[in-house]
Amino acid sequence: MRAGKVYLVGAGPGDPELLTLKALKALKQADVVLHDELVSDEVLAYARPDARVVAVGKRGRGRSTPQGFIERLMIAEARRGHVVVRLKGGDPFVFGRGGEECAALREAGVALEVANGITSGLAAATALGIPLTHRDLSHGAILVTGQRRGNAETDWKALARTGMPLVIYMGVSRCGDIQRHLVAGGMPPDTPAAAVSNATRATQRSVVTRLDRLEQAMAEAEIASPAILIVGEVARLAASLNAAGNSAASPAAPRQRLRRLPR
Ligand code: SAH
Repeated sequence: MRAGKVYLVGAGPGDPELLTLKALKALKQADVVLHDELVSDEVLAYARPDARVVAVGKRGRGRSTPQGFIERLMIAEARRGHVVVRLKGGDPFVFGRGGEECAALREAGVALEVANGITSGLAAATALGIPLTHRDLSHGAILVTGQRRGNAETDWKALARTGMPLVIYMGVSRCGDIQRHLVAGGMPPDTPAAAVSNATRATQRSVVTRLDRLEQAMAEAEIASPAILIVGEVARLAASLNAAGNSAASPAAPRQRLRRLPR
């Protein structure tokens, strides 16, 4: 019997053209594909027609597949000699529980390979024409979750002090709190802020506004999860910005224009 193997693969943000060649190669080989709900149908279309494609994982507070079940299924299929692709939205090692799944597979002695994907935070910035680093504006960027672990709140004040743009994942439901924490932590209320949902997909929506108006602007623009929030001076460079500070950019972002935010 051929030895099975698990590929832990990042599917990128949705646009299949953003798949890596490694991801594509693994998908085309896979007997079994276990994918998160964040993985787009256009990407799944690259699986073999005879592959077993199973939706696992969870989305926000919706129905979820227990992590232990996913790990047991991967291990059992690999032991059966199957090539298993565990396909995750974005990058498996950025808020993707990739570390946990790797540990379980290693412990089970299953052969494993990890393939990067383009993480949604980077894709969201690019979709709006926002350079996350810029020689004049930021010398780094921070990827951070908007969720709390138990009652432990992120030290937003410390993050605000860095002056670096914040790329916030899983932040939609806590956007009002985050906005208030950042302003209370010393970030100027008129700091440019953007939100992008379904980045790189046909359903992409976005809004560019200022930090103290983020929650309201997101509600008005009907930005729902999955979305990335980008807070920092670099968001001023968003190409999709219009005079109302409110727009729905198409995935093919227009040529970058520099416009000032309304004050
Ligand atoms: N591993 C993924 C992140 C999973 S956590 C990655 O690297 O992108 C889930 C969060 O990712 C969502 O709440 C949202 O903040 C973000 N996300 C995933 N896909 C997205 C997309 N296409 N557009 C905007 N945000 C996305």
